[in-house]
Amino acid sequence: MVRKEMPVQIDIVEGDITRLKVNAIVNAANNSLLGGGGVDGAIHRVAGPQLLDECRTLNGCKTGEAKITAAYQLPCRYVIHTVGPVWHGGERNEAQLLASCYRNVMRLAQQHQLQSIAFPAISCGVYGYPMLQAVDIAVTEVKKSVLHNEVIEQIQFVCFDQKMADAYRLRLD
Ligand code: ADP
Repeated sequence: MVRKEMPVQIDIVEGDITRLKVNAIVNAANNSLLGGGGVDGAIHRVAGPQLLDECRTLNGCKTGEAKITAAYQLPCRYVIHTVGPVWHGGERNEAQLLASCYRNVMRLAQQHQLQSIAFPAISCGVYGYPMLQAVDIAVTEVKKSVLHNEVIEQIQFVCFDQKMADAYRLRLD
């Protein structure tokens, strides 16, 4: 199936992903899915303890895979948790694993008929992925996935700082 309608809107947003009223926000989680620092910590803080309760039932998540939960006190409807690779220099399948994060998130978005989704820069924080390479994978995979998705209308790349936003702008222009 190939998309017939209007092109999907892809936006770069500077700010805090936990504030967004989209169908789903994506969490850059760790393998345990039991919370952590960075965007993961922020999401759990705003969602409240019920998110952790649901995450405990999921038996973790492998790197490159994704799992969906409710969003509890967050203004969005769902959280899609995915685990990006830790950057080890590029020789440990990092690019394929990061690409599969984006693909698996988009697959869940399709399954749940989501119209809007917001991504943080997966692996670009403590996991140390080089920013420009990560941005290239994010944009490439998302653009590929939307071609086969009739429902999605809006993708947001959420950037915590201006440097990251500039990297997306450079890649999307
Ligand atoms: P990872 O472990 O996958 O590297 P991090 O949470 O450490 O995940 O960082 C991923 C990206 O998310 C970084 O670019 C970081 O600046 C950004 N980030 C951290 N908190 C938030 C937030 N509340 N909203 C959006 N992005 C955030």
